[in-house]
Amino acid sequence: MKNKIIVISISLFLVVLCFLAKTNTVEVTFEAKEDEFYRKNNICDKKETDFCTHLPIVTIDTNNQAIPGEARDGTTIRTDIKIIDNKKGGNHIEDKADIKTEADIRYRGNSSMHFDKKGYLLNFVQKDGTENKVKVMGMEKHDEWVLHGPFLDKTLIKNYLWYNISRKMMDSAPDCRFCELFVDGDYKGLYLMVEAPTRGDKSRMQISKYNEKDDFSSYIVRFDRPNKNPDENLVNFSFYTYLSSSRLEVIYPGKTKLKDSVKKYINDDISRFEKALYSYDYDSFRYGYKKNLNVDSFVNYLIINEFTQNVDAGRNSTYIYKDIRGKYNMYVWDFNNANNSYINREIKTDEFEFQLHPWFEMLLADEYFTKQVLSRYQYLRKIDVLKEEYLLNYIDDIIDYLGDAVDRNFEVWGYTFQQEKGLLEPFSRNPTSYEEAVKQLKTHIKERGRFLDKYFVTIKQFSAESKVKKYNH
Ligand SMILES: [Zn+2]
Repeated sequence: MKNKIIVISISLFLVVLCFLAKTNTVEVTFEAKEDEFYRKNNICDKKETDFCTHLPIVTIDTNNQAIPGEARDGTTIRTDIKIIDNKKGGNHIEDKADIKTEADIRYRGNSSMHFDKKGYLLNFVQKDGTENKVKVMGMEKHDEWVLHGPFLDKTLIKNYLWYNISRKMMDSAPDCRFCELFVDGDYKGLYLMVEAPTRGDKSRMQISKYNEKDDFSSYIVRFDRPNKNPDENLVNFSFYTYLSSSRLEVIYPGKTKLKDSVKKYINDDISRFEKALYSYDYDSFRYGYKKNLNVDSFVNYLIINEFTQNVDAGRNSTYIYKDIRGKYNMYVWDFNNANNSYINREIKTDEFEFQLHPWFEMLLADEYFTKQVLSRYQYLRKIDVLKEEYLLNYIDDIIDYLGDAVDRNFEVWGYTFQQEKGLLEPFSRNPTSYEEAVKQLKTHIKERGRFLDKYFVTIKQFSAESKVKKYNH
């Protein structure tokens, strides 16, 4: 009798447990940050015809100066910035600002530099020009910010979506918030305030601060197209041996503080690692990649960028950071070209890119690395990170959060829905409505995910004995 009761209780317990587990996987909630929750319900309390939004308003006052940037010489202008971010009653341009600061600004971006809707780099400064670190829209205190204006990305949400997904996968990835922008009183549409890819706490690149007395330093470098000023590029091993066509540039310490001795230290440090990576030693215990880089960081970087087919990642706008006492880490940046929005050509969902990218071509030559990629991917596909149902629901939630800000944005930029005014080539690839753009994004996620579920395993070919023989001892 006693046994029977125990058996019945255990069975009941298991049934309840299964039920709980099941409801858990079906339920989807908007993964908003605390401040986004109140903004979602921030309803206008006035009956005005003036501009009103639930999103924070950013205003830039240039004081009648032209904004520089296209010359790519780092020139900035001093401007006045206001950020209006009310907890309730909506945000209006005449409301009291939460943040008022001066800022040195310029346009930023590569191909996006020439888009009609501009991106901005903001450095908040005090009156005397020293840095002014402030908490912006609920994000960690800092003085360096990027205002990214989604333009090529007609869904407006790709950077927001993939930065937030990356934050669930990696130690650090950019934090960001949607807002609406005015420059000298002109409405510029929906923008994303993003943590600039710099040194900092939490979601920025966590490395120790450079001491100008030292001839060594923690550092951030970026793989990119060659700089117009060739002196800015490093002459590292993978470049001078023609192993990589991407050029490296030092991002931290910044240009104005970077001494020749520190630049040489960074150049030598990277070359020493690359010599081992592109040799018999690539997987050795003593000199190999595991000793020099954070394998998880490279695994996750590859997964998120292959999943989204963000084809420039790994060779352009590719940030790598290393603490003086630590290993190399990757930092995600820019998903505008992702999900088949590469300007020059259609990206087929059955292509792989990373076996062609600097450093990664050697990592993929090792079976252990490939194995880590595959098992991590399978895990992420099962949970609320890369699971198909989760991603599709998350997209709907983000669009729901944006509300009528999407319409306001396309009142200014909607002309790009005329296919011949779109940026993708051939023109027939350009979506003709917001709904079509979102549908394209969802279709890409479904197709790419299902392809990888079946065929990601084929990346094992890059570490096949016949391919890597020349590197094996
Ligand atoms: Zn209002």
